[in-house]
Amino acid sequence: MTTPLVEMDGDEMTRILWQMIKDELILPYVDLKTEYYDLGLAHRNETDDQVTVDSANATLKYGVAVKCATITPNAARVKEYDLKEMWKSPNGTIRAMLDGTVFRAPILVKGIEPCVRSWEKPITLARHAYGDVYKNTEIRVDGPGRAELVFTAQDGTETRELIHEFQGPGILQGIHNTEKSIASFARACFNYAVDTRQDLWFATKDTISKKYDHTFKDIFQEIYEAEYREKFEGLGIEYFYTLIDDAVARVMKAKGGFIWACKNYDGDVMSDMVSSAFGSLAMMTSVLVSPSGVYEYEAAHGTVQRHYYKHLKGEETSTNSVATIFAWTGALRKRGELDGIPALCQFADRLEKATIATIESGRMTKDLALITSLKDVTVLNSQDFIREIRNTMENE
Ligand code: NAP
Ligand code: MG
Repeated sequence: MTTPLVEMDGDEMTRILWQMIKDELILPYVDLKTEYYDLGLAHRNETDDQVTVDSANATLKYGVAVKCATITPNAARVKEYDLKEMWKSPNGTIRAMLDGTVFRAPILVKGIEPCVRSWEKPITLARHAYGDVYKNTEIRVDGPGRAELVFTAQDGTETRELIHEFQGPGILQGIHNTEKSIASFARACFNYAVDTRQDLWFATKDTISKKYDHTFKDIFQEIYEAEYREKFEGLGIEYFYTLIDDAVARVMKAKGGFIWACKNYDGDVMSDMVSSAFGSLAMMTSVLVSPSGVYEYEAAHGTVQRHYYKHLKGEETSTNSVATIFAWTGALRKRGELDGIPALCQFADRLEKATIATIESGRMTKDLALITSLKDVTVLNSQDFIREIRNTMENE
């Protein structure tokens, strides 16, 4: 390696897997160069969350990061870790700084069939990673009063809209997005569709949200007409816009093999649904692509808290490490492409193949064993699954 990967360590069970993956599957084969940032909750707390910001800045500097799952603190975590503050979601902070789009695609293996019988090919979810409810401002209203939306232009001119005349207690939320971010989301989706030669679907609720969601629809359409229509037609692929509820209904009957672009919240929810329906949250790749060409690879699932507490009690766990392994291979491959090191790309391919071959040979973790159609399955614990992948790699 010539340029370091930005390595963002994380929490709980995924932090344990992280070390095992490095020790068994990466360090013996790769002359690994990383710049290490510990995003474990204790260290985020010690640094007043500065480490998260530093890791995002390092990603902007070097171009490729690999991230372990991290705890997003809630009230219980504030107690558990004796936190100075309820720190924000590191993913939210990093995504806002990189202003990108998250692409999530299921990892298909023989023997794990999707719950939705019509799905024959992967569905890739493209999630806008900036704004909306993830950058909201909220008020809990205690009693009667008037709520207004106020915009003050630089010259001092005010635009006001009545939100609601409260007769009693209630709740309020302000959200925003920017044309710049929506446009880069649109371009990231169109580029990804062209690169992977797949149709692109996009959906919002523009019939109800006539300015907010409608702006998303308009920006996508304008950019499509001006910059992509010809390319799409040349490749025989399609850009298709519809309402979000119509999209959900159509996805259930589709064959797959397309990209589904979603606003931030829709993408959060739909990617968990799509990945679970394809088999498991742990069988999904996830990469954040920023408009400036910066990449951050991660697993889509969380820190698997329940398994971690078993692990702490000395009990055996069978946690699926596939998504975290693919975060590493994705990052190593991209580093190889950017720096012109084909051996690094070949190693990433080899590790991914060995991971899939191990599962297809019937050696897998419990989450997959519960849903596989394969017979004669060996259920492995967290560590042994990783060791078996190494064996597969050594004996191919
Ligand atoms: P989770 O880590 O996604 O796990 C929820 C459940 O899904 C697990 O209990 C397990 O089911 C199953 N599961 C998820 N990943 C698995 C894997 N790799 N192998 C096997 N089973 C897996 O969610 P959580 O436990 O509710 O959240 C824990 C922490 O993760 C939270 O503090 C949250 O803030 C954080 N989080 C982080 C990210 C991120 O950094 N990307 C994303 C989401 C959540 P069983 O218990 O039935 O085995
Ligand atoms: Mg989520």
